[in-house]
Parts: sequence; C-alpha cells; structure tokens
Amino acid sequence: METERLAVTVKESNLPDYEKTAREFDWKEAEKAFSWYETGKVNAAYEAIDRHAESEERKNKLALIYSDPNREERYTFAEMKEKSNRFGNVLRNIGVQKGDRVFIFMPRIPELYFSFLGAIKIGAIVGPLFEAFMEAAVRDRLENSEAVALVTTPALLPRVPVDELPALKHIILVGAQGELPEGYYDFYKEMENASPDLEIEWMDREDGMLLHYTSGSTGKPKGVYHVHNAMIQHYQTGKWVLDFKEDDVYWCTADPGWVTGTSYGIFAPWLNGVTNVVRGGRFSPDDWYQTIEKYKVTVWYSAPTAFRMLMAAGDDVVKKYDLSSLRHVLSVGEPLNPEVIRWGMKVYNQRIHDTWWMTETGAILIANYPSMEIKPGSMGRPIPGVQAAIIDDDGNELPPYQMGNLAIRTPWPSMMRAIWKNPEKYQEYFRIPGWYISGDSAYMDEEGYFWFQGRLDDVIVTGGKNVGPFEVESKLVEHPAVAEAGVIGKPDPVRGQIIKAFVSLRAGYQPSEELKEEIRTYVKEKLAAHAAPREIEFKDKLPKTRSGKIMRRVLKAWELGLPTGDLSTMED
Ligand code: ATP
Ligand code: MG
Repeated sequence: METERLAVTVKESNLPDYEKTAREFDWKEAEKAFSWYETGKVNAAYEAIDRHAESEERKNKLALIYSDPNREERYTFAEMKEKSNRFGNVLRNIGVQKGDRVFIFMPRIPELYFSFLGAIKIGAIVGPLFEAFMEAAVRDRLENSEAVALVTTPALLPRVPVDELPALKHIILVGAQGELPEGYYDFYKEMENASPDLEIEWMDREDGMLLHYTSGSTGKPKGVYHVHNAMIQHYQTGKWVLDFKEDDVYWCTADPGWVTGTSYGIFAPWLNGVTNVVRGGRFSPDDWYQTIEKYKVTVWYSAPTAFRMLMAAGDDVVKKYDLSSLRHVLSVGEPLNPEVIRWGMKVYNQRIHDTWWMTETGAILIANYPSMEIKPGSMGRPIPGVQAAIIDDDGNELPPYQMGNLAIRTPWPSMMRAIWKNPEKYQEYFRIPGWYISGDSAYMDEEGYFWFQGRLDDVIVTGGKNVGPFEVESKLVEHPAVAEAGVIGKPDPVRGQIIKAFVSLRAGYQPSEELKEEIRTYVKEKLAAHAAPREIEFKDKLPKTRSGKIMRRVLKAWELGLPTGDLSTMED
C-alpha cells in the first residue's frame, strides 16, 4: 500500500536519531536530570519550579504568561516558587497533610497553578476539576476521592454540595467577600499571611501526586492515581516529543481538568524550564491566532477538535495573523484526520505531530517523533523506552496490518498506580501478563507505525467486514461541506450493523437530501462501498466531552433510544 509521507523539516533535524535512541535509551538516563538522583527523595513541584528558581540562569526567566480578556500577568520561576510556597503553607496551617486529597475547581487562572504546585509541595494528592462541571460531576469526584480541601471560587461554590460531603473540611475561596463561616478561607488573605518560605515535603518516588478522572468518553470516569515518579517521563517526552529548547514559548491549549493540561500544561514545560503560556476564556479562532502572534508561541500542543474548528473557520482568518514564530505543532486526544494534517501544511507550513496516550498512561507513549517521517493518519511510533504491540485477546502478538488490542509492555515511569478505590477495574488493564491493554484498537504497519482504528467497543462489523469509525470520519471531513463527523454502528438484521454518520456542516452549507447523497457517494468512491454510511444525519453540534472528544456512545444511545449513561463530562 502506498502511503503518504511528510519528510522531516530542517528545523527539527538537530534532534537525536529515532532508530538509535529507540535502541539505546534507558529511563535511568532521564533520571540524572534531577537533583533527587543523589538523595533518592523527590518532589515533582520542587523539580518543576524551585530548582530553576534557585539557579542564576533561570530564576528571573518567565515561567508563566497568563492572559484572558480581562487580565494579563507574568510570573518568573522565582515568583512561582514564592506563590506556591505560600499556598503550601496555607494548606499546612489549616492542617492538610501528606496523602490528603486537595481538589481544585476553578477557571484556568494563575491561582490554579499556585494552588496545584503548593499542594504537591506539601505532599498532598491533587485533583483538578473542569470549571464547567455541574453539581453531579463535582459530587461524584469529591465523594469518590474523599477530598479534605477544595480550592474554588464564590461563583462555582453553589455547585459544590458541601453538606453532603463529610470528608470535605476546608474550602478556600479565590475572591471571597465579607465574613466567612468556619471552614472557609479567603485565598488572598491567607496567602498574604503565609510565609514565603516552605519546608518541602520530601517524598518517595512512589508516593501519590495526582488523582485525575478520565474524560468519560466510554462510560463513567475513572479516578486515575499517579505518583511522583511520573515526572521522569513528563520531563523526557517534553525534551524529545515536544522538542523543548531554552528559548521556547510554549502553549498547551488543554485545561488542567484533563490530563493533558497537567502532564503537558504544567509538568513537561516546567520540568524543562520552559516559558508556559496559559490563555483563559473561550475558544475563538481570532483569539487563538492572536495568542500565538502576541506571545510569539514556538511550540503549540492542541487537539483534533480544535484543529478541525480552526480548519472550518477558513484560511482567511489565518492570513490576518503572523504565525511565523511557530516551530513545532502537536495534537492529542482523538485521532488526527489526515485532512487536518494536509491543511496544517498548507496554512501553517507546519507538520502537525499526532501523539497518543491516555489518562492512565500519564504521559505520551506513541508519537510522531519530530525527527521522523510522518504518515498522515498514523499516531506514530513508540517513544524510546516504550514497547508497543498489537495483540489478540490471548496475548499473542499479531503481524502487521492485523487489527487488535493496542498494548504496551509494562511498566513505564508514568504508568498509573491504581484506579482509586476500584482494584477490579485496575486489574482489567493488566489481565494479560506483561502487558497493559489500552482499550483502543489499532494495527501496526511493517515500519512499526501504529494506526488507530477506534475504541474497542466502537469497531463496526458490517456485512462481515471490520470498519474502524476513524477511517470513515476522516474521509467525511475531507468533504468540503463537513466540519466534523461521528460514526457509529447501528444494528441491522441483514448486515449485522450498518454505518451511520452524524455530521455537522461548515458555515455556508445547508442540510439537504442531495448533500447527504453527495457525501455518501464521496466516501464510497474515495474509501470503499462497504464503508460508506448508509445513513447520514445532520447535527448542529456533535456531543463532546469537556476535553473535546466526540462521544460516540451518546450518539449510539440517542440512535437506539437507550439511556445515555454518565453525562457529567459532556459539554453544554
Ligand atoms: P474514558 O476512559 O472515561 O472513556 P477517555 O478514554 O476519552 O475517557 P482520556 O484518558 O482523556 O479519556 O483519553 C484517552 C483516549 O483518547 C485513548 O484511549 C484514545 O481512545 C483517545 N486518544 C488519545 N490520543 C489519541 C490519538 N492520538 N489518536 C487516537 N485516539 C487518541
Ligand atoms: Mg479511556
């Protein structure tokens, strides 16, 4: 099969050779980058902030550039150290201890980052929540984690059912007004009164650091438990996959409520001492391009849904801005459609590098390594230090091009250490000895590139043929009228399942029977007759998670008139 290839661009050519590093790399080498290599004791927040704040070269370097439509602030590593120290003391002063769960429920503002780092500095386990979560989502997570402290804002407080959460003793309010009842604290007042010097809680590398709930694409979100040791991989993938260099200005568009917003919105850049841009407020193409132009962003990590929306907004918007600072662009969260990659080449003159990983894996495992050819539609190859394979349900490795379970050899540094209070669920991932079973289905080609097909449950069997929904969706978004597409298998007495596509249209296109027929014919001619959707339904918007993933299970439930299940992570 002839595959499209995008060559390595000159700008990236100073990275280590993939083949060589994949053969020789050992995680022990990455550990040497940290001060704890000698002591054996560790704290990821110390390594991310204080280590730089204590160095002459980086103490006055910008760590955080924050902006939203009303606020613009900059913080050096030294200032980040001071702020997070103060917050660590705030928590200690009210009695929060090592191992306690501290949750953060607020918009992406600088206070979120001070709280996050401060809590980790005193050994607490941090749980970040999307600001858009409604009461049920907040309750589920605070109940399951038995959080003792919550940092939030007065505006979000009504969504916290405090009286029904017996473990929750302390509420710290950012922007509190007037007298506060017992157990409530004014963030700014406490920060002011707290000492800027903090005694860091030195941890074992296997001590807990994060409790991250999954996106809820396939069902009820799981509480994924990560330990300080994960920072080794956050650091190393930052260096190699994100290709961080000293003068980079990096922008990760993900909210810390999703694992990308912590592993790559906090740890990877700061462990590498890189300037990190955080943009608050809502998505709009103009706003995003302005952010790149204004701060001269060099490395940009986003998601397919965002790239698809930018593509649908058209090429003319791009031309209004100077995006020439961009050096490296990456994507994660969903399969990246080849059409999006082609468009990225055209309008940004950049290859968009797909990366694959999960909340459970803690960090990137498979990627289009910058010094590697890209095959659009493939998520790339395992990063050095990681071994991936396609296996059947008995653990046999399958030959190239055969679809099966995407599995990873255990362990790797950032692997989850538990599903909170659910050991049975945790065991399911490791049911085949020596392997982690991802729950995604994929195949590998003869050069070791992995090709995502769909979630295991989403693979469609129609007329005896396996069809991955991703292939059909990617063909659909190539059609000029289609902005986004979600494809499901619908039970059919004759064919087992038929393919049904839910499609949202680009601006300027009207739904019609003719358009349906045209789109169907397009897929039939460009992909395969058996892969063409027999049914197409137009939707203004597709159901998506807060992290921007199309929720196919919701489309399926709507279609079949079944209960939709847990919707706590769905967008409005
Ligand atoms: P839940 O586990 O609650 O159903 P989720 O799996 O969407 O939600 P995350 O951990 O945020 O939660 O997402 C990981 C999943 O996202 C992967 O298992 C995979 O299905 C998908 N994914 C991530 N990156 C890619 C990628 N580059 N290509 C294809 N799919 C991807
Ligand atoms: Mg998952």
